[in-house]
Amino acid sequence: MKQKKAYLDITVSICPFCGTPYADASWYAIELGSDVECGVCGRTWNPKESKVKVDRFLLEFLLDENAKVMKVKKKKRIE
Ligand SMILES: [Zn+2]
Repeated sequence: MKQKKAYLDITVSICPFCGTPYADASWYAIELGSDVECGVCGRTWNPKESKVKVDRFLLEFLLDENAKVMKVKKKKRIE
């Protein structure tokens, strides 16, 4: 049986006010360009505009026959 897989594109960014790192879904942080409210300092910033995006990765989830996640792997870096 072929291994079932699912994928999630994530962006890592850093709050420009207090330095707290965040990992968000890229469709939200980058494609949609949504503002993010920092859970630590409470200020709002935009991961797309403020040049605080530090990394973007595709994660691969290896699933069992019931689609339960067994393992997460770094698939590839997205430039
Ligand atoms: Zn902050």
